[in-house]
Order: sequence, then C-alpha cells, then structure tokens
Amino acid sequence: MLAYTYVKEGTFQLLEKPKPTLLDSRDAIVRVTLASICTSDLHIKHGSVPRAVPGITVGHEMVGVVEEVGSQVGTVRPGDRVTVNVETFCGSCFFCQNGWVNNCTDPNGGWALGCRIDGGQAEYVRVPYADQGLNKIPDLVTDRQALFVGDILATGYWAAEIGEVKAGDTVLIIGGGPTGICTLQCVRLKSPGKVILCDRDPWRLNFIQAHWPDTITVLPEELEAAVKEHCPHGGADAVLEVAGSEDTFRMAWACARPNAVVTVVSLYDKAQTLPLPDMYGKNLTFKTGGVDGCHCGEILALIAAGKIDTTPLITHTCKLRDIESGYALFEERWDHVIKVAVEP
Ligand SMILES: [Zn+2]
Ligand SMILES: [Zn+2]
Repeated sequence: MLAYTYVKEGTFQLLEKPKPTLLDSRDAIVRVTLASICTSDLHIKHGSVPRAVPGITVGHEMVGVVEEVGSQVGTVRPGDRVTVNVETFCGSCFFCQNGWVNNCTDPNGGWALGCRIDGGQAEYVRVPYADQGLNKIPDLVTDRQALFVGDILATGYWAAEIGEVKAGDTVLIIGGGPTGICTLQCVRLKSPGKVILCDRDPWRLNFIQAHWPDTITVLPEELEAAVKEHCPHGGADAVLEVAGSEDTFRMAWACARPNAVVTVVSLYDKAQTLPLPDMYGKNLTFKTGGVDGCHCGEILALIAAGKIDTTPLITHTCKLRDIESGYALFEERWDHVIKVAVEP
C-alpha cells in the first residue's frame, strides 16, 4: 500500500509498504477513506518533534472503515465507519480513569499515531486500543463532516470545556487557524455573549466573518481597542490562546479581565515569559494543553445534530498519490488554504 513516510528531517516520501496487521488483541485495522494534513505533521518534517521516529507513516487525522479487529475489541466491528483519535490511550490507568488521556502511561500513550507508530496518510492504519481510539460515525454524518473529530475538533471542544466558558461571557480567541476555528465553533455552543477572534491574516478574518457573522474579528493592532469597547470589566471573561505566535501569550493574559481563566492551547516554538509582577492582583488562572481527546462520541452527536460543521475548513482535496502537492500547498499557505483533505 502507499504510505507517506517520515524518511529523515526535512524529507517525507510516498513509499510502498506492506499493509499493517493486528499486533495485539486490542488492535483494529482501519481502511482510511479520508485523511488530512495537520500543522503537527510539518513540525515532524522540520525536526521539532524529537519523539517522532524516522520511517513511520505520518498522518494522525483521518476517518475510515474498520477492516479487521482483535479478539478483545468490543465497540467496533468490521464494516463500521469510524473516526480515529489522534491520541492512543489505554482507558484504565490513573490518568485515563480521570479523563486525562493525554497523559496515559501506556508506552504508546498520547500522540503515537503518525509520530511514534505508523499513522494514517496511507491506505490502511493499525489503531491500538481500538475501543478507545475509534468512534462510530453516525450514518447521517459524512467522512468530510467527521474528518477533524479526532484531532483539531477534539482540541477545540476540550479547550472550550477547560476554558470554563459560561453563557453570556465575552470570550477572546487568539488565532483563526483551523484549530482556532474549531475552538470558535465549540465556544459558540456555550452561548457566550460575545466572541472576539484575533488573527493577523485579514483573509481568514473575512472567512470567519462570512461563516459566523456575529463574531467580532480583529487584527492584533485592533485588539486593545476591541477589548476596551466590548469588555465592561477590563478584559475578556475567558481567553483561549490558539495561535502560538511571537506575542500571543502576552496578548492572552493582558486581555483577560481580573479572575479570568486563560487557556493556552497552542504549542510554542520557544519558552514564554510569565511576568508575575506585571499581573499581580489580576488573580488569573492559567490552563495549558495538550488535548484530552476522549469526547469524540459527544462531538459526533453534535455534528449529527447540525450544531458543529467544520466542512468549510476543507478548502482543498488531493489524492494520496499527489500528497506531495497537498503538503506544498499547505506548507506555503498558497491559495488561502485552511485544510487539505487527502483521499487514499
Ligand atoms: Zn494534528
Ligand atoms: Zn491510560
């Protein structure tokens, strides 16, 4: 089968590999019907994910059809359409039992697919702990609707939860990329009073405005004025930092009102400064990523009910055999790309 492979730092290549087989009684083999390219794939390519293992098939955002299951798999059967979770988790360790599946202590726990074990930019993928890692897609939900459930949409859902967004709140989201837009959709489910979304790309702000017109979209240089205008208590009630750029961590705490929760979803390239003397008396609560992606069933139900729709994010689609061109487009941000779907 064809599999897009991390060969060495700077090089991914489409290679012919054997079809994966069951290695454990809790594994499933999934025939990938749609995958996508994520910014984290680029992080692997550029060598900024030291845990990534050369030789592995990349890709951790996909949907497919179950081909084969191990004897201990109980929740899915061959023929089921499923989402695949970016995180591998055992479901039984201390952290899993508390819902903190990102910290699962299994050797393959956390982000393994497409990083430490073969992922899904391929025709088939082996999924460990299939009972935890796969969720059945409701009949009415298409592959394109379900594509982001296991990764960026799981992240947005989790961010809105831990960000403690309440009805009536003025919420600030920093970052209008794919995960920022997923976060926006999940925040909207909490009936906030107002949502301000800040991004430095005017095209993306227009895109967001066109799809979710009641969002207040601002450029970084307009943010301070927007916070003054829309936040009666000196800042946003909840801030979600989904950008991870040079100045966005400072913006996040500076734009929060006293006693707000500041949720940091983004992954930074560099260490950030927490200038405690400057924020003394603001009594902020900080929460940090990565995602505990164990709510995929709830998210699929919300999609089926028409409450979340991430299909507008799929701006481009390519065939697996042309994945190279999909990566070039995504990496260079050509043609206002947001997400690229890959068809095996
Ligand atoms: Zn990802
Ligand atoms: Zn666990």
